[in-house]
Amino acid sequence: MTVPLKLIDKFGRHIDYVRLSVTDRCDFRCVYCMAEEMTFLPRDQVLSLEEIYEVGAAFARLGVNKLRLTGGEPLVRKGILSLIQRLGKLDVELVITTNGSQLPTMADDLVAAGVKRINISLDTLNPERFKELTRKDKFDQVIAGIDAACKAGFKRIKLNAVILKGRNDDEVVALVDFARDRGLDISFIEEMPLGVISEHDREEAYCSSDEVRAMVHARYPLTKTEEQTAGPSTYYRMADSESRIGFISPHSHNFCSECNRVRVTVEGRLLLCLGNEHSMDLRELLRSEPDEEKRAAMLEKALIDSMDLKPEKHHFDLANEPQILRFMNATGG
Ligand code: SF4
Repeated sequence: MTVPLKLIDKFGRHIDYVRLSVTDRCDFRCVYCMAEEMTFLPRDQVLSLEEIYEVGAAFARLGVNKLRLTGGEPLVRKGILSLIQRLGKLDVELVITTNGSQLPTMADDLVAAGVKRINISLDTLNPERFKELTRKDKFDQVIAGIDAACKAGFKRIKLNAVILKGRNDDEVVALVDFARDRGLDISFIEEMPLGVISEHDREEAYCSSDEVRAMVHARYPLTKTEEQTAGPSTYYRMADSESRIGFISPHSHNFCSECNRVRVTVEGRLLLCLGNEHSMDLRELLRSEPDEEKRAAMLEKALIDSMDLKPEKHHFDLANEPQILRFMNATGG
C-alpha cells in the first residue's frame, strides 16, 4: 500500500527520502571523516533504538518511501539488527550505507530483515593505501564483506568512492573493473579535501566528476542513462556490462531544485539541508511526551511543520566549504 506523501516543502519539492544516522561511532578513522582520537557523544545525547524507530515510523506514515541508515558506521551500533528488523516491516525501501567491515557476519541477516539495497564505501583497492586512509588494517575484511554481500542476495549493491587527486585518482579504472567483475554499481562522489583533519604528507586536490568520468570514458565508453534512483547520482552505462557508473556532484552541479531528502542526526536533529544549519530538535520532542500515541501525533505534526524550514538551496562553494562541512560522522553524510 502506498501512503500519500504529506511532506511537501514551500518550493513544491516532495520529501520522500530520509537519511537516519544511527551512530556517530565507527570502527574506522578515515582521514577525511574523523580525527584519530575521537570523543564520541555520550549515550544520553544519542537517540535510543526505540526513538530512532519512532522517527522512522512517523516518516513512513507521512508517505516517505525510502529510509537510509547511515553513521558513523551504522552496523557497529549495538542492537542495530533489531532496529533494522523493525524498520524492515514498514512500508518503505530500507537501505544502508556501510563501510563493509561488518558484512562478513551480517550480510545474510540484513537481507533476511528486508534490506534490499546497500551502499558500500570503497576508495582504494590497495591495502596499504586503505590503511593510510582509514587508519585501520581491515582491507581484507571489507573485501570479504563485499563478497558476502554479493552472495547474500541484495537487489542492488553500490560501491561509493571519493576520488581526490594525489590520493586515489590513479585507481578510478581499477575500481570500475572491480565493480564490473562483481556486477555491482559504482558511484564516484565529489568531495573537498579536508586537509585540516589530518597530517597529510602530500598534496590532495579536488577532482571533479567530469574529470573522473573522462578517465572512465577513456577505457569504457559511457552512455548517459535517464535512470534515476532516489539519490542525486547521474548514471552512465557501459556497452558490455550490467554495472552502472554514477556521479554525485554536489560541487560542480547544483541539484537542490530536485532535492527530495532530509536527514536526522544521531542526536535527533532533523537537518533540512546538508549545506545549511536549518534544523529541528526531534529528541526534545520525543522525550517531552511519555504517552506513545500523543508522541506519535506530535512527531508527525513537527515533521510536517519542518517543511517550512527547508531552504531553497545549499551554499556549497569551494572557498567557503570548511565553514559548512561538519565532521561527516556527526551528520550522517
Ligand atoms: S568515513 Fe565512514 S568508515 Fe570512515 S571513519 Fe567516517 S564513518 Fe567510518
